[in-house]
Amino acid sequence: MQGKPTAWVLALGVALVLAGCATTTSPTGRSQYLMYSDGQLEQMGAQAFTEMKAKQKTVSGGQQNAYVQCVVDALIQQLPAEWRDRRWETAVFVDDSPNAFALPGGKVGVNTGMFKVAKNQDQLAAVIGHEIGHVYARHTNERVSRQAATSTGLAVLGAVAGARYGQSGSDLVTQGGGAAAQLGLLLPFSRTQETESDEIGQRLMAQAGFDPAQAVGLWRNMLEASGGRSPEWLSTHPDPQNRIRALEARAPSLQPVFQEARKSGRSPRCGP
Ligand SMILES: [Zn+2]
Repeated sequence: MQGKPTAWVLALGVALVLAGCATTTSPTGRSQYLMYSDGQLEQMGAQAFTEMKAKQKTVSGGQQNAYVQCVVDALIQQLPAEWRDRRWETAVFVDDSPNAFALPGGKVGVNTGMFKVAKNQDQLAAVIGHEIGHVYARHTNERVSRQAATSTGLAVLGAVAGARYGQSGSDLVTQGGGAAAQLGLLLPFSRTQETESDEIGQRLMAQAGFDPAQAVGLWRNMLEASGGRSPEWLSTHPDPQNRIRALEARAPSLQPVFQEARKSGRSPRCGP
């Protein structure tokens, strides 16, 4: 009987925290539990992005920045107004590994190494569309909410309760370490989230006037470039063969969306 009161108190604590959760529906209709507000996540994302830009060398001005900005602009035009109107920002990092990411709040980063793999604007749109999909579907919020909900220990519950009831997101972020590392903003997403982002990204491409079939080409190039090694993007984006199959199977159904976009004058000319 001795352990029971503690377990009961813990269970009550978990229940109280979960009661504060919002249930939302993702863009593909999946039910999600979110513990944090968009504003909290955006603050974390913005701070992490600022830190990354301070620590890593970025390309200033020039063709590559304009190229990435153009692709991002075309894609976010296809998001609902609520998402389109956030403070989207881009950066190109001087780094040979083909990697890209997007943080909550609309901060998009692309490594220079990605341009060797994404060989045309449609392939770059496939990468960035996928990353925007993670943001649009609130995947980071979902992940940090799950971590907080499943962590045992009243200290974690206390921290979460503190974050929800009064303590600002910024205080939470600054407790030790870099924001990105601290919050696990760049950790791999779950398989479900990856599949969802592939779907959202490919549709966004088509709606923006990028050829959705090129998502397949991007993944083939990615595999080819890996040449036995495992670049960062592939390590956080597993199971490329299955993705290629799914993207290839979905592409024909998106051709009408793509053709309609072109007919409506959405013909991006971003580069390279
Ligand atoms: Zn992903």
